[in-house]
Amino acid sequence: MKKKEVFLDKFHCKGCGACEEVAPKAFRLDEAEKADFLGDDRATMEEIEMAAVLCPTKCIEITEE
Ligand code: SF4
Repeated sequence: MKKKEVFLDKFHCKGCGACEEVAPKAFRLDEAEKADFLGDDRATMEEIEMAAVLCPTKCIEITEE
């Protein structure tokens, strides 16, 4: 299986919190209300993919190496 890479474009994050709600161990809002990606070992890829789908600014990108 190919390894998936997750990128979070903080600049376009508007701090809605949807990613943190779906995958709270993988995403966390920082003090500036911008999401941080904490690592793909902290949630299932399904949860991370769901966060990417729900993100209103589409700033979570998943690529396959
Ligand atoms: S879902 Fe997208 S816009 Fe909302 S907090 Fe997460 S990264 Fe930011």
